[in-house]
Amino acid sequence: MDKKLTGYCLCGACEVIIRPAEGKMHACHCDMCRAWTGSSLIAVKVLPGDLEAKGPVRTRATSAWAERGWCDDCGSSLFYRVTASGPYQGVTHVATGLFKNAGGLMLASEIYTDYRPDGYAFAGELRGMTEAEVMAKFTEGDGA
Ligand SMILES: [Zn+2]
Ligand SMILES: [Zn+2]
Repeated sequence: MDKKLTGYCLCGACEVIIRPAEGKMHACHCDMCRAWTGSSLIAVKVLPGDLEAKGPVRTRATSAWAERGWCDDCGSSLFYRVTASGPYQGVTHVATGLFKNAGGLMLASEIYTDYRPDGYAFAGELRGMTEAEVMAKFTEGDGA
């Protein structure tokens, strides 16, 4: 995608400018994303160098292979970034809640479907992957 999107955290102190890698969003239902967002993370993939985050952005390693970024003033979840060396290093998944109308992107897939709560589901035809399928793909190194 050539289109750039500009979004803001809840308090407006953090400005996030991205060029999405693709015109679609994906949802993650893993326990960490649900604790971090309060629901499920709906994010857009951004390649290294296509993200600019200004303001009081803080990051924290939340696993051996990734970190998460948030606004240190208001606590808004901003992004998940792969830190492990390999083909995905630096690939960032940015929370689409920062952008008006989710940047006009479409929800196309969901991962960690085996962790999705029984009480809700997204509408439409979505590609789904379980934790085992995600880990296999991540290890193979084709996609992200
Ligand atoms: Zn903020
Ligand atoms: Zn997740």
